[in-house]
Amino acid sequence: MDLDAAVRAADALAAARRVSALTGAGVSAESGVPTFRGPGGLWEGRRPEELASPVAFAADPELVWRFYDWRRTRLAGARPNAAHRALARLEQLVPSFELVTQNVDGLHAEAGSRRVVELHGNIWRVRCPRGCVDEIDRTAPLPPPLPPRCPRCRGPLRPGVVWFGEALPPGAFEAARRAAESAEVFLVVGTSGVVEPAASLARLAAGRGALVVEINPDVTALTDVAAISLRAGAGEALSAIVDRVEEARR
Ligand code: NAD
Ligand code: ZN
Repeated sequence: MDLDAAVRAADALAAARRVSALTGAGVSAESGVPTFRGPGGLWEGRRPEELASPVAFAADPELVWRFYDWRRTRLAGARPNAAHRALARLEQLVPSFELVTQNVDGLHAEAGSRRVVELHGNIWRVRCPRGCVDEIDRTAPLPPPLPPRCPRCRGPLRPGVVWFGEALPPGAFEAARRAAESAEVFLVVGTSGVVEPAASLARLAAGRGALVVEINPDVTALTDVAAISLRAGAGEALSAIVDRVEEARR
């Protein structure tokens, strides 16, 4: 990791009043949760777009639920890692902090982050497409038969996540956009930056003059908008940066 760049990022965070962060699957990688595009992200050789879509669900709800059941089972043992904890600490150190996540695993809240916009929903949420049921259910694996049925209308229940081709939850994108518009420093952590409209938030922040800081071991679609790019794992980089912010704010 470029220590000089990490110090510049920390100093900017220590001086800022408004900070926002956009996180993606890479933040949870160190918790043992595979990213979609990294190793272990494919399920039975299928691309996520073939499973996480309304078309896939209409065609074969059982198949889609088996995929989510597999993901829920892998998540059941996952705990927040150093990156989640550092972001929760940063929220306490900055006067105004907004965390926008594309992750559906709920690990930011578990680590203690209070203000979290879940752009793509939550994998533990189960809901009826007709609106009868919307609840958190941490059962994994779900008891057969799949798909689970709505107790009221008997239709198939679905995971409370946003699928490819679907609109974001009402209010979530608005809140995320406000976070991007108001930030002086905008962190982009562990996201490939290819899923829209989430990725556009970083461009919006950069266009409004925010200092965009990227943390990712690889070059991404958002590297070109970042003023500072840290090629490092999220846990290592964020722990070091937030330690320094903590010292500066003391
Ligand atoms: P992605 O899979 O497209 O990209 C993950 C990124 O994380 C990559 O750029 C990779 O280089 C980076 N990365 C890998 N290890 C890292 C580490 N240790 N530290 C920092 N970065 C690391 O994920 P995405 O951009 O979030 O978009 C994919 C979509 O998949 C999102 O909509 C998300 O909802 C969904 N998803 C969520 C989870 C989860 O909730 N944990 C897991 C997989 C996919
Ligand atoms: Zn129903």
